Amino acid sequence: MTGHQRLSGKVAIITGAASGIGFEASVLFAKEGAQVVCADLNEQGIQKTVEKIASLVGKDKAIAVKTDVSKEEQVKHLVDTAIQTFGKLNIMFNNAGIMHPEDDSALTTEEHIWNLTMDINVKGVWYGCKHAIIAMRNSGGGSVINTASFVALRGAATPQLAYTASKGAVLAMTRELAMVHARENIRFNALCPGPLRTPLLMDFLNTEEKKQRRMVHLPQGRFGEAIEQAYGALFLASDESSYVTGTDFLVDGGLANAYVTPE
Ligand code: NAD
Repeated sequence: MTGHQRLSGKVAIITGAASGIGFEASVLFAKEGAQVVCADLNEQGIQKTVEKIASLVGKDKAIAVKTDVSKEEQVKHLVDTAIQTFGKLNIMFNNAGIMHPEDDSALTTEEHIWNLTMDINVKGVWYGCKHAIIAMRNSGGGSVINTASFVALRGAATPQLAYTASKGAVLAMTRELAMVHARENIRFNALCPGPLRTPLLMDFLNTEEKKQRRMVHLPQGRFGEAIEQAYGALFLASDESSYVTGTDFLVDGGLANAYVTPE
C-alpha cells in the first residue's frame, strides 16, 4: 500500500464482520494498515471477509474467528486469539447486533425475543468491552467503538422495543466506560448509525410500504450505506480522534436533527 495509512501498526477486532458495517469496516481498516481479526457467528461469511482482505492487501493481514458475542468464553477466546496472533489489541469494534423480526411493541414482543436481543446487543457489547479493557491495559491503551443506533436518541412510532432498549443500554454503558477508563488511555465511543441499506434493516422492512414509512423522514431521501458507517468508525478507531471519548457519534444523514424533510 502507498500513502498515509491511518491505522498503520494497529490491531483491530471487529464483530459482525461477515456482513454490512462489520464487513465494510474490516476491509477499510485493513486497507488503512490495521491487522484485523474478523469475528461473527457466520463462519463462511468471515472467511469471505478475510479472503477479500487478502486479495486487496495480501495475506496475513486478517484472520477469522467464529464467535457468538453473547457467550463470554467465546469473546475471551476471540481476544486471546488476537493477542496470540498479532501480539496486542488497539481497536475493539463491538458491532455485532440483531433486530429480530418478532421484536415489536410492549404488548406483543415475547420474552424470549427480548432476552435474545439483550444477550447479543447488550451483554455482547459488555463482554467485548471487558476483555478489550484487559488486553488494552497491556497494549498501552486503545479505542473501543460500540455500535448503538439513532433509535437510542429519538422515539419511533414503528416499534422494535427490545432493540431500542438494547441500543439505549449500549449508549449509557459506553458513556460510563469512557469515564471510568479515561485515564488509562482507553477511549470509548458509540457509533449511532441512521437507517441503512444492509440485511439487518432490509430484512426487517420486508415490504415497500414499510420502507416508505421510513423514507419520508430521511433528509437525504435515501437509506445510508454500510461503508459510510465504516468511515465514521475509522475516524473513531484512529489517533485522529485522540480527544474524542464518551460521544454518541451520529452518522445518520441528518435524521436525528430533522423536523420537516425536503419533498
Ligand atoms: P448485518 O445484519 O448486515 O450484520 C450484522 C452481523 O452480526 C451479521 O453478520 C451477523 O451474523 C452478526 N451477528 C449476529 N448475531 C451475532 C452474534 N451473537 N455473535 C456474533 N455475530 C453476530 O447488520 P448491520 O446493519 O451491518 O448492523 C451492524 C450493527 O449496526 C448492529 O449492531 C446494528 O444494530 C447496528 N445498526 C444498524 C442499522 C441499520 O439500519 N442497518 C442502524 C443502526 C444501527
